Amino acid sequence: MTTSENSIRAASCADDYDPNSMPVGKAREFIARFLTPVAVVERVNIRAGLGRVLAEDIVSPLDVPSHDNSAMDGYAVRFADLKADGEVTLTVAGTAFAGVPFNGNVQSGACVRIMTGAVVPEGADTIVMQEHVKAADKKVTIGGGHRKNQNLRRAGEDLKTGQVALKRGTLLRPAEIGLVASLGVGEISVYRKLRVAFFSTGDELVSIGKPLGAGQIYDSNRYTIHGMLTQLGCEVIDMGVVRDDPKLLEQAFYDAARCADVVITSGGVSVGEADFVKELLERMGEVVFWKIAMKPGRPLAYGRIAGAHFFGLPGNPVSVMVTFYQFVRDALLKLAGRDPVPVLPTFTVPCTSTLKKAPGRTEFQRGVLSQDAGGKWSVRVTGEQGSGILSSMTEANCFIILPTDQGNVSPGTVVEVQVMESVV
Ligand code: AMP
Ligand code: MG
Repeated sequence: MTTSENSIRAASCADDYDPNSMPVGKAREFIARFLTPVAVVERVNIRAGLGRVLAEDIVSPLDVPSHDNSAMDGYAVRFADLKADGEVTLTVAGTAFAGVPFNGNVQSGACVRIMTGAVVPEGADTIVMQEHVKAADKKVTIGGGHRKNQNLRRAGEDLKTGQVALKRGTLLRPAEIGLVASLGVGEISVYRKLRVAFFSTGDELVSIGKPLGAGQIYDSNRYTIHGMLTQLGCEVIDMGVVRDDPKLLEQAFYDAARCADVVITSGGVSVGEADFVKELLERMGEVVFWKIAMKPGRPLAYGRIAGAHFFGLPGNPVSVMVTFYQFVRDALLKLAGRDPVPVLPTFTVPCTSTLKKAPGRTEFQRGVLSQDAGGKWSVRVTGEQGSGILSSMTEANCFIILPTDQGNVSPGTVVEVQVMESVV
């Protein structure tokens, strides 16, 4: 990238799009060009690695499992001793326990009692489940119908020595933590948590604990944003409510950018308020203001201020969540080192509701996916779709994504849905 391409404002001028009608996909692509993951690495105990992003490839130092072992409680036998149909009787030469191997060779005509996880003794190549034998007096009688190598777990069948067990950029969930433990590795390198500072703007906002005056509302965005950031594994810095006052806002932007990798605000980017914030942010950094061709969530600002990434989200509570989900989530995951950034899957189902939709923008209506008595899935819309109706989000379990050119939808039409994962 050249210096001029590196500049958000320069890039926004050079790009062939209309900031008053920015397509969702274009905005995503634009933002992605400016995201460089955090590089700071911390060594942590694997338990503390839960929910963090791996900063190194984990290469297996051993075979997992380290030896051929039994998948069942039963008898380790030589397959050649068995009959395809018909019974054979073998002598039990000893027992192999998990952790206490049978030391010896299984001779023809003999077998070894073996427990799940025990090393398969030399000479044996097949495990017969204990339910499939008649055992009496140090002898077992085994019928036909067995396969060579059955019920064996091979050394290295999970992981082989030198194999990359987990790639850098992987989110460490309980399964990954367990896998690392299975290699005998107790400490791992993870990326530093992304620090995200956020505040709400608006003279009408009141924090919880104070009574509401005329025309005032409680600040809910800070709580949803706090929740969404926490679920993404970010370190959150809640900076409270900032009044619509240029001096206070400027100070808040500086304070936030100084202590965080990313600054998120809600409110103050809609028409009327935008000019004032625009002027402020233009002085402080490089920010582009878009009217995204989407509903809800039209106004969105993105850029850098004092070295931090900045997302200026709209004020309406549903718009905050939709823009966070559709733009901020991916950006934060990329910045946090996730590679690849997991895609939120979409799929199609019939819609049972009538949907009002004007062509010209992408809509993210809130839907409820459910199964009928016959097990077939369909989606219905939650009631009112206003961008201030947060209960549409609490009722919903998915977005119904209606593409730009789509008009009204009649019941029975197949629509695209995106399940709201835990970020919401
Ligand atoms: P704005 O983008 O600042 O013009 O705000 C748009 C709408 O969202 C207005 O109705 C605001 O009162 C409302 N709003 C803004 N910020 C918040 C907030 N933090 N919590 C709840 N509602 C908000
Ligand atoms: Mg406002």
